[in-house]
This record gives sequence, C-alpha cells and structure tokens, in this order.
Amino acid sequence: MFSKRALEIQPFTVMEILSRAKKLEEDGEKVIHLEIGEPDFPTPGEVVEEACRAMREGDTHYTDSRGVPELREAISKHLKESISTNINHQREILITGGVSQGLEYVLASLVDPGDQVIIQDPGYPCYPNFIRFFDGIPVPVPGDRDHNPDLEKLKERINRKTKAILITTPNNPTGTYFDRKTLRGLADIAEDNHIWLISDEIYSGLTYDAPRSPSVLEMDCECYAMLDGFSKLYAMTGWRLGYTVAPEVLTEQMLKLQQNFFISPSSFAQRAGVVALAQKERIKAMKAEFDRRRRFILKRIEEIPEMEVNEPKGAYYVFPDLTGVTKKSTLLANHLLENAKVAVTPGVAFGARGEGHIRISYANSMENLEEGMARIENAIKDYEE
Ligand code: PLP
Repeated sequence: MFSKRALEIQPFTVMEILSRAKKLEEDGEKVIHLEIGEPDFPTPGEVVEEACRAMREGDTHYTDSRGVPELREAISKHLKESISTNINHQREILITGGVSQGLEYVLASLVDPGDQVIIQDPGYPCYPNFIRFFDGIPVPVPGDRDHNPDLEKLKERINRKTKAILITTPNNPTGTYFDRKTLRGLADIAEDNHIWLISDEIYSGLTYDAPRSPSVLEMDCECYAMLDGFSKLYAMTGWRLGYTVAPEVLTEQMLKLQQNFFISPSSFAQRAGVVALAQKERIKAMKAEFDRRRRFILKRIEEIPEMEVNEPKGAYYVFPDLTGVTKKSTLLANHLLENAKVAVTPGVAFGARGEGHIRISYANSMENLEEGMARIENAIKDYEE
C-alpha cells in the first residue's frame, strides 16, 4: 500500500522516547526529560516581538524562494564577523525550513541511486534515513575512543561510488568538534577524491572554549555545503528556520527544489531571524547557563564509577560510556524510563559505535538535572539485564 521509500524510514528514536515519556506523564508520573535536544529557554522576546510586528504589518505572504534579502544579508554579515568569510548573499545562501530541510535539499541535489555518503559513527540518527530516502547508501565510519574522526579509516572507505562526506561539528551526540587541522584534512580528502564535504554546523555557536567552532567555510573548498540554523543557539526550534551556504551551482539546484516543494520559508519567521542574529548579549547569557550545567553534569558523572565521559566542548549533550554496566543501551534506556522515570536516548540510536553509551541532554533546568542524575545514579547501581 505504501511506497518502499516511506516504509523503509525508521522512526526518530528521540521523538519515540519523548512520546513514551509523555504517556507516563499522562498517567501521573513525574518524568525528567534528558532526551530532547531543545533549549528550555524561551525565544528572546525581541525576536517574538518582531514576528508579531511583521504579521501585523501584513508580512504574511510568500517570500522570494531564496529567502528575504534582508535575512540573507544579515547571515552573510554574521559569517563575515564570526569567521571572516565573504559569502555572496545573492547567490550562495538559501533560507530553509530548519537545517532538516536544508539537508534534504543538499542530499536530494547530490545523491543518485547507489551513491555512498560517508557519515560519522556515532552521529545524528536522521542522516542515514535522509540518505536512504534518496536511494543512497550511508557509510558510517567509527571515530576513535575520543570520538574524533579517524582520517585514515575514512579514506579507506572512499570508492568510486562515494559522493560526499557528511559531518556534524560540534557533533550530536558527543559534543566534540573538529579543530582546523582535522577539518583541513577532511577538506583535502574531499578535494583529492572529487567529492563533496557537507558540514552540519547547527551547534557551531554553542561552544564553551571558543566563541564558535571552525567552519568548512574557512577551508576554501570547491565542493562544499554548510548548514546552520536558528533552532539551537537562538532557542527557536519551533520556528523552523535555517540556511545553507554553498557554491552558486549547488544553491541553484536547491533553489529549484525549494520553489517546487516548499515555495518559500515563513515570511515572519525570516523577519524575526534578522533580529535573532543581533541578540548577542542574550545568546552569551544562554551559553553561560549551558556551560554551568555542562560542568555540573561532568562533575556528577565523575562521581559515578559506572560512567566515563570525554569532556564535550560543544552542543548540549554528554555521551557517557556505560559499557561496564551494559552493552545494550536500549534496554538500559528503557529501564531508566520505566523504573527511574528519566528519559535519555540509547547510544545505539546514533550508530553501532554508540552502543553501551547513553546521550544525556543538559538543555534542562539545574533542578531537573540534579534530580535526573540522582535517579540515574541509583538506577544503574542495581541494574541487571
Ligand atoms: N542537525 C543536527 C545535528 C541536529 O542535532 C538537529 C536537531 O536535533 C538538526 C539538524 C535539526 O535541526 P533543525 O531544527 O534546524 O531542523
């Protein structure tokens, strides 16, 4: 009855866990949510105000399919200030309905049936689904112990069917990001093999030891796509606003897809996006709070002998290793949800290399993090499969 393509799509584990947690809440349980990757802060008030103003002024119609020039210009200025790159806002930027939609456009533009796309393991669970949807083949390459990419291993996986390397920096679920040398290495591999380097930089502004993580845009590649958006850094997940930066040839291909499939991003969300980019002090304050929580979580993990973790330098996740407790992270996550009423994501959802880990999102209040970590500590003490 349904298409093979649709049937092959796997559910997004995080959303599945969230709905099971919500069911427990409906039954009167108090669940601590450490599964969802979404800031608990409200969208900054000025941003909300601008969207309301836009609607009142009648800015409620389709826009240019590329996105409004004001937002593209503001993004280009923002990238100039943060990473000193000159991006042509007329030809190299496309505003999308979140990074998710940008990924769909990039992969739809590049992947032919049977093409292979190299991805990180562990990595964002939706990528393999995106790639398979376009009849491509995801090729996960496990990182080293610290979850850094092993460039030699990665090179070995390239063959004549390889079309692109898709990276996330900082990564979800590990919070590690690529330094310039590693990015340079990846860019060189892509150039030498005439393949694309696609870089999902949705967490690039959420770094704790530097103002932002290095970008593929600094590497001067010919065949690249960079994706970023407003969901994470600006606490705007529900606005569905993101963008791609890519060479004009790729941007033109993606523009055709947008014209046909989506027409244009939301008009008032785009106006609000211009104001969001100017919220430097608010963003600084949110980052400082995330950092406080990150340090708290790391300290708590250090106190729990069953858990081991590398310090994440970005995003708002920790990915502790619990292989001493279990090699079956799904069973452990179920146990934590059913018995301790803490929702976390099993590591295996992020790839085979993630097995034996859980992902904890610290985008939650300090009070909930304290309670959540206490419940996890108790629940793993007597855990038996
Ligand atoms: N890329 C990564 C690595 C993510 O972690 C997420 C959301 O969790 C997305 C993309 C989706 O972003 P958006 O809300 O902009 O569609």
